[in-house]
Amino acid sequence: MLRDMASLHDCENCRSYDLKAQVRALNDLIRIAQESVSSLELDSLLQTILRGAADFMEMPVGRLALYDKRNGKMVLRAHIGLENCTVLCNVWTVEPGTLTGQLLRRNEIHCVEDFDQIKDELGDYVAHDAVRSLICIPLVTKRSIHGMLHLYDHIPRVFDKNRISQISVLASFAAISIENAKFHDETHRMAINDALTGLNNRRYFDKVLPQEYERAHRDGLPFSLIMIDVDNFKRFNDTHGHHLGDRILAAIGRVLRRTLRSIDFAFRYGGEEFVVILPETDLDSAHKVAERIRVRVITESRKLLRNQEDPPVTVSMGISSYPRDAACSITLLAMADQLLYQAKKAGRNRVLVSEVGVS
Ligand code: GH3
Ligand code: MG
Ligand code: MG
Repeated sequence: MLRDMASLHDCENCRSYDLKAQVRALNDLIRIAQESVSSLELDSLLQTILRGAADFMEMPVGRLALYDKRNGKMVLRAHIGLENCTVLCNVWTVEPGTLTGQLLRRNEIHCVEDFDQIKDELGDYVAHDAVRSLICIPLVTKRSIHGMLHLYDHIPRVFDKNRISQISVLASFAAISIENAKFHDETHRMAINDALTGLNNRRYFDKVLPQEYERAHRDGLPFSLIMIDVDNFKRFNDTHGHHLGDRILAAIGRVLRRTLRSIDFAFRYGGEEFVVILPETDLDSAHKVAERIRVRVITESRKLLRNQEDPPVTVSMGISSYPRDAACSITLLAMADQLLYQAKKAGRNRVLVSEVGVS
């Protein structure tokens, strides 16, 4: 009788222990899910998801890859602990018949508790010596396949069924969060982008100029502004048609993207007007960049003209530079605009800078 009571007590203890573990697991899940859904920046979200899932499953190694449905490729976007085992590759194709392809299609989690036991069935999962167990977690919503999360361990593991169904809940939250973050990125991109040229739009310029000015002022670094206007563009449209005019503007967008560094900004300021911000760049360097743009616009426009006898498209530019030319962003802009106006008056197809700075 006493022994029965003791085992009943043990059983109760066990159940209470189980319940406590379940509650702890659910709390962990809720915390990770909350962190995920509140994050709209894609890269930090992917890190949050990966780290949360790896901690939750107590797996030391993991990687998260996003699926690009346009070319059927997976792109590695986040990883932890991978340096000790093979980083297979950063981009790989998902073939429909492979394990990954099937798991994504079925939105099904797949576990390998010990690679040594299934060496012959590995398919597209090449196990490295350091990896003995694995969980593949598709990140899929009703609308889209977003990617795949892989968690690895260096030792064989026996995965608890409850944990696996809990991680599938986490995967659903993660996939929805990724969808939201992508949507947010796309909305932001559309809000700041000019569709014809692929450059940033004027609204974004109004935001970036004061920011770059503040940064240059704070860090004691120069920055330059180039205002660009296409010469005689009304006449060009009248001669060649609006459609070719549009193609010229798009080509100028490409010239700017190709000529500038990744830290620079190029904007379509208005119809046939562009503006460029060059951080950490003094007047002399900006002048060289502007000349390069001027020459490239001529070369690229020639390629679009049917008759090579026709004059190519040219641009005029005005450049101002902080702190040489002005101590505030509004004056800097007005100055570049004024110099552009003078470049037009002086005969077009040229770059003008001010003779003397403010100091
Ligand atoms: P200037 O050398 O003095 O700048 O002469 P311009 O003819 O370029 O200047 P103006 O301001 O008189 O005319 C600008 C022209 O740019 C007129 C307008 O039709 C054209 N334009 C503005 N936006 C677009 C566009 O999106 N597509 C095309 N094809 N043309 C455009
Ligand atoms: Mg104009
Ligand atoms: Mg013009």
